[in-house]
Amino acid sequence: NRQIRLAARPQGAVKPTDWEHATAPAAEPGEGEFAGRTRFLSLDPAMRGWLDDRPSYLPPVGIGEVMRAGSVIEVTASNHPKYEVGDHVVGTFGVQEHVVSDGRGTIKVDPAAAPLSTYLGALGMPGMTAYFGLLEVGALKDGETVVVSGAAGAVGSIVGQIAKVKGCRVVGIAGGAEKCALLTEELGFDAAIDYRSEDVRKALREHCPDGIDVYFDNVGGPILDAALTRLAMHARVVICGAISQYNAESKVEGPSNYLSLLVRRARMEGFVVFDHAARYKEAAAEMAGWIAEGRLKVKEHIVRGTVDDFPGTLQMLFRGENVGKLVLELV
Ligand code: NDP
Repeated sequence: NRQIRLAARPQGAVKPTDWEHATAPAAEPGEGEFAGRTRFLSLDPAMRGWLDDRPSYLPPVGIGEVMRAGSVIEVTASNHPKYEVGDHVVGTFGVQEHVVSDGRGTIKVDPAAAPLSTYLGALGMPGMTAYFGLLEVGALKDGETVVVSGAAGAVGSIVGQIAKVKGCRVVGIAGGAEKCALLTEELGFDAAIDYRSEDVRKALREHCPDGIDVYFDNVGGPILDAALTRLAMHARVVICGAISQYNAESKVEGPSNYLSLLVRRARMEGFVVFDHAARYKEAAAEMAGWIAEGRLKVKEHIVRGTVDDFPGTLQMLFRGENVGKLVLELV
């Protein structure tokens, strides 16, 4: 059983030597357990945070432990009452080829209803993040102006499209002309800002003449600060993530323009998607409906390889090399 384990706590960007490529004997399922073969592994920016030994919403991955990761597995042997050989299951099974689980925190998924990778993307954790972050935390109202950063990524691409379903004006911020063209030409965004080549503050002034009602932030740093200068009255700033800060070796940079929250009577609120787990089923059903109607386009970036390709694939997120949900398919 090939596994990727954490070898050392990274300083700044993760280095190849921070990982151990190990082989363990494949375990047999005990009473009430099932075994499975990993088919698709999820790559998530949050993984960088799980490597740091500091208080967070989950404990850090321990040195020598198999790296934590969400995945879709196919059941190969089962003593579990709910799962049969051939079933597909989503869970936090870690970066390894073979898994054994007691089924806690797992969900059976149907490959006939959607491609398996989609259960790690639009119909999985990133989709739920977009849905609850925008509609619940952002308290989106029909017809408002929404700005989302990391807009061509897994969460951002769905945030913008849900906002369009709700009849909003949507502006996406992403890196590069190609990603910006995808947003406006394929995903229905009203405008896109290339933060690598444009002055974001100036572009927001142009594209949001009446201000921003909901700013959904995936990146933090200078882009968050620019968005704060353009808030409409009673705006909501949703702190979903801050990927620009995850590799920071010094202190995380806070927004210097935060007093516009005061001036605009605005609210800034962070959230963790897991807190909405009780309503995932309901949200996934609504999202599946939008996908079937063609109102929500699923963007996935599937890399085919082995678990040994996990470290290199993870770094793609921090270089902006993915479009949509980044997944490693084990072949
Ligand atoms: P993405 O698919 O959006 O991939 C990450 C993207 O971030 C890259 O493609 C890149 O796009 C962009 N990026 C990388 N570095 C920078 C930088 N320095 N400045 C600006 N943009 C950068 O990842 P996800 O959709 O999975 O995650 C998006 C965010 O949502 C992350 O911050 C993540 O931590 C957060 N998240 C939070 C959850 C919660 O419960 N709060 C749950 C799930 C995700 P580009 O080419 O445009 O730069």
